[in-house]
Amino acid sequence: KELTDLNALAEEYLRLSYHGIRAKDKSFNAELVTDFDAGLPKVNVIPQDFGRVLLNLFNNAFQATQQKKFQEGEQYHPQVTVTTRQVAGGVEIRVGDNGPGIPDGIKDKIFQPFFTTKATGEGTGLGLSLSYDIVTKGHGGTIGVENRDGGGAVFVVGVK
Ligand code: ADP
Ligand code: MG
Repeated sequence: KELTDLNALAEEYLRLSYHGIRAKDKSFNAELVTDFDAGLPKVNVIPQDFGRVLLNLFNNAFQATQQKKFQEGEQYHPQVTVTTRQVAGGVEIRVGDNGPGIPDGIKDKIFQPFFTTKATGEGTGLGLSLSYDIVTKGHGGTIGVENRDGGGAVFVVGVK
């Protein structure tokens, strides 16, 4: 582990995620809103491992905006919001999207290995289970998900 600037790490992996998805789908565009705490203390993490967690969350968020079902004629502006904050006991990074959100019936399953709602070849169902292990076992941190009032999901990762 090394003291790491989480804002810079998030920036790096956001770029990777966005361009990775764009490379496969030229029509993909989502608005990316970042709100990084400029005074964020550094966190003690394994940068490659924590970067993988971020990449999984960013990929899921961007993909969720592509899976949103909306009525014909309805205006939908895909948007992903990433914020960092200093909180009591560490720092928190939130990855939000305005996709379909997580149905109540699967909320307790999404962190299990091989659980996916994506088509064969598009999802392995391993991203969140791996992320859960890296954050909790690897770093003593926390990871959870909430649905947003206006629709969509927000994943919250806490680490020191
Ligand atoms: P995969 O992305 O390969 O399906 P993950 O472990 O990353 O596997 O995610 C598991 C499942 O959790 C997804 O298939 C999807 O059903 C759900 N999920 C994850 N992130 C989101 C999100 N941002 N919005 C809606 N559903 C999500
Ligand atoms: Mg995934």
